[in-house]
Amino acid sequence: MGVIRQLPDLLVNKIAAGEVVERPASVVKELIENSLDAGATRVSVSIEEGGQRLIRVADNGCGIAAGDVHLAVSAHATSKLADEAALFAIGTLGFRGEALASIGSVSNLRLTSRTHDADAGAEVRVIGSRIKETTAVGRPPGTTVEVRDLFFNVPARRKFLRTKSTETARVTELFTRLALAHPPIAFDLTKNGRTSHSLPGEQTTVERIASFFGPEMADELMHFQRTEHGLAIEGYAAPPARARATGNWQYLFVNGRWIRDRMLQFAMREAYRGLMEHDRYPVAFVYLTLDPAGVDVNVHPTKIEVRWRDGGTVRSQVLSALRETLQAADLTPALRAPSPHAQVDDSRNDQLRHEAAEWFKRQIPAQPTGSSGTADSTSRGAFPRGGALGDRTTVTPYRSTGNHPASDSVSDRPRPADALSLWRTHYGDSPSPDVHQPALEGMVQRAPGRALQLHNTYLVTETEDGLLIIDQHALHERVIYEELRKRITGGALESQRLLLPETLAVTPDQMALLETHRDLLQRLGMEVSPFGPDTVAVHAFPSLLADTSARRVLGDLLDKLAENDAGGDVEDLVHELLEMMACKAAVKAGDPLTPEEIDALIAQRSLVEKSSNCPHGRPTTLSMSVKELEKQFKRR
Ligand code: ADP
Ligand code: MG
Repeated sequence: MGVIRQLPDLLVNKIAAGEVVERPASVVKELIENSLDAGATRVSVSIEEGGQRLIRVADNGCGIAAGDVHLAVSAHATSKLADEAALFAIGTLGFRGEALASIGSVSNLRLTSRTHDADAGAEVRVIGSRIKETTAVGRPPGTTVEVRDLFFNVPARRKFLRTKSTETARVTELFTRLALAHPPIAFDLTKNGRTSHSLPGEQTTVERIASFFGPEMADELMHFQRTEHGLAIEGYAAPPARARATGNWQYLFVNGRWIRDRMLQFAMREAYRGLMEHDRYPVAFVYLTLDPAGVDVNVHPTKIEVRWRDGGTVRSQVLSALRETLQAADLTPALRAPSPHAQVDDSRNDQLRHEAAEWFKRQIPAQPTGSSGTADSTSRGAFPRGGALGDRTTVTPYRSTGNHPASDSVSDRPRPADALSLWRTHYGDSPSPDVHQPALEGMVQRAPGRALQLHNTYLVTETEDGLLIIDQHALHERVIYEELRKRITGGALESQRLLLPETLAVTPDQMALLETHRDLLQRLGMEVSPFGPDTVAVHAFPSLLADTSARRVLGDLLDKLAENDAGGDVEDLVHELLEMMACKAAVKAGDPLTPEEIDALIAQRSLVEKSSNCPHGRPTTLSMSVKELEKQFKRR
């Protein structure tokens, strides 16, 4: 006797429900999408107890004819897909015709609806897949769906739900995505009877973003827009200083649908490379519009992943749009005291502000012994001329991580002869900027003689409308890095033969790595060869690093090679190695600089790319406007 049986419809629906209806937030998503597909201009969402007890979505859309309401809640019934061809050019958010049926199979569902030309509305109820009779009801045009007791008949699903507050947060996040995707539509969200969001219709995108993330963040966004190859891109990128610890703040929309796309997430990070620390993620809102035939949304039951017909073009368009925007912008973080009138109506905003404040705090290094410490150091002479400064190592705020313990520390050793040679070789012996760069703008023209070195670490200079505080090490690092990058694209770095080769003990793995990366080492100006079974000798070394220990640089380099061996990109590795070299060659915190050196360094600021951040992504410069000073001193 055969053992294969056709599954009963009820069970089929429950299985399908498992894919689409995972948790209350998935119900909210399906219902809001239906409202948007129905052309609603106002959507009201209400949940109780994390959505498990009640989810209600009401809209003023086209409504459903009384004769159709039972079909709407039946499996595989949709008004959105006429034939197979339509499946490959989907212009609506829904099309599978299974959401309402699936939701109805795992809850008590009540749908009421009225079309604009009908005299009365119709109501249909579904209890665990059993569809009740349609009855007439009075109601305004539009549709309301109420979902009660979600998963009442699927204990296994119920167990997977998290706490009410977690489920509520997920609903809020979904609401956020959909509302961000459709700024012209009015939305509101009520949780346990309390309205948390009330968004007016006809908002612009940036107004909608401001509604969720606060006006301060929205003010800082950089707008970009381009249309090429049938792809329209519009977006808002936050400055790198707003970067977050997760990628959740990269909002990506395609034809009105929020999606997750690894390729584009990478592209966004790529655009910000070198402007933020490696473990940070940019905040950006990117809206793509293209022919629906160019993107297949029928890949995933919840339609949050898509397949591109021409992913390469999408990627490069997004990347270059973002890149150009960032390149054109002044990314120097402004020092601003928090406004006492700031209005916060969302817990995520609180979190954002908190992080911004923490970040802000990190930009201002704590004095070793608090404010009295400042007084102490003043009485001892606040700006020592290169004396022993061992007790001031904590002043260095941007200590490089791990690999180069001594590289950034304060010291009284003579500054490497080569430290400033880079721009000398590039711009001639006189570092005075105006000799070589007659067209420098703003601060640079006014800079000579106007800059001050503080604590042998920071440079303070005047600008047209305020002042800049520069971290000398961070900025110099960026300058050298950009120079190295330029040189290495043109060939190999200049190298210098060592009179006495330096030796380093290596493991067989490391020996193999050196062999594999021989070309790379040569590009970097290093010549290394085996010197016995477990030792290598360094014969030539980048001139720029003449004053650093070849052994240590090679050790660090081997660590990076090993890390990269796990499957990294060679160009990424080159960048990392250049970062490391730039860090070692740059002036350190605590190095006293001559006025000429200060001027030269400041002049470089407006000449190199991405001067707002060091190669590790930390800021090189903070700015404060005269306006802000006036505000702080209560002059206005
Ligand atoms: P799909 O959205 O994939 O078509 P659903 O199960 O979500 O499938 O909805 C089934 C049908 O019910 C839709 O095709 C639509 O015709 C109708 N419908 C559902 N919700 C609404 C609504 N809010 N307004 C108007 N029609 C709706
Ligand atoms: Mg739907």
